[in-house]
Amino acid sequence: MGKVIAIFNQKGGVGKTTTNVNLSACLAAKGKKILVVDIDPQGNTTSGFGIDKNTVPFSMYDLLIDNVDIYQCIVNTSRENLFVIPSSVQLAGAEIELTGMENREKRLKNAIDKVKDDYDYIFIDCPPSLGLLTINSLTAVDSVMIPIQCEYYALEGVSQLMNTIELVRENLNPKLEIQGVVLSMFDGRTNLSIQVVDEVKKYFKGNVYTTIIPRNVRLAEAPSYGQSIIEYDPKCKGAEAYSEFADEFLYLEEDINEGVI
Ligand code: ADP
Ligand code: MG
Repeated sequence: MGKVIAIFNQKGGVGKTTTNVNLSACLAAKGKKILVVDIDPQGNTTSGFGIDKNTVPFSMYDLLIDNVDIYQCIVNTSRENLFVIPSSVQLAGAEIELTGMENREKRLKNAIDKVKDDYDYIFIDCPPSLGLLTINSLTAVDSVMIPIQCEYYALEGVSQLMNTIELVRENLNPKLEIQGVVLSMFDGRTNLSIQVVDEVKKYFKGNVYTTIIPRNVRLAEAPSYGQSIIEYDPKCKGAEAYSEFADEFLYLEEDINEGVI
């Protein structure tokens, strides 16, 4: 059965999209069938895969607001095993349009449930907000992956983030779990990065991935070529890190499936 995971942190610029694009690409390269759902109006995940959000026939907006069938919204990427539901600029207005709609928190869940079993993993790239698009995402998923940037104020907003997860658990999605916390943009030359890793590990205890994503300029360059890091520069440090991260992710998933932990 497919697993649905939201990549979420209401702070912007922490590595949600970079993690979504590159983890998905690495997992697809390792033979897993992946659907990436871009529910962020900025559409960086969509363009990161080289998809022009202005020319796709249907997008996340059509799915959420106009009841377009989810199968019609899925587009191929240039890579095997990797599919995307693109964002669109109209999605920014969807937050308000959803307010008056029936089942407003469950519209994404109702759509995703239909295709869940067609994929090994479905990753949702959340916008940096706590509005209805994020609530729809947290309601549609089995678990949440939280990227945290190794920078000043790394843990700022984390208690709000955890409160939101708890609220969704109580009201909309009782089975919502924490998939794991991934530390990103680590700079081993600074004491600050090292301190942040310690702080985050203390706060989240066993929920932090061993693999840490380093700051690597190639990761920042790849999206402007519409490529994941394993296409753009498969030998760079960023590509190595995301490939290792995908291995760790799968290793832990297999343990969960076998009931080891
Ligand atoms: P979010 O989706 O949380 O807003 P992004 O993934 O878009 O964050 O990352 C914010 C910016 O930092 C982007 O310009 C991205 O290219 C860059 N970036 C993300 N991760 C790294 C990294 N490990 N090394 C260098 N730059 C990164
Ligand atoms: Mg983003």
